[in-house]
Amino acid sequence: MPQLQTRGRDLLLCRKCGSTFPEGQATRDGWHYECPGEDCDAEGLGDGLRRVRSQN
Ligand SMILES: [Zn+2]
Repeated sequence: MPQLQTRGRDLLLCRKCGSTFPEGQATRDGWHYECPGEDCDAEGLGDGLRRVRSQN
């Protein structure tokens, strides 16, 4: 079974709605990222979403 590249540690911040969520919630295939917010359509790591360094 292929292992996804998401480790689930990093948080992503949505630049549109301002919410933060685990990386694993924003992608299903480790390639295409989009905000999990129901009313938000921001997508793209480094575009609509940006990575937040978690402490550790
Ligand atoms: Zn959003």
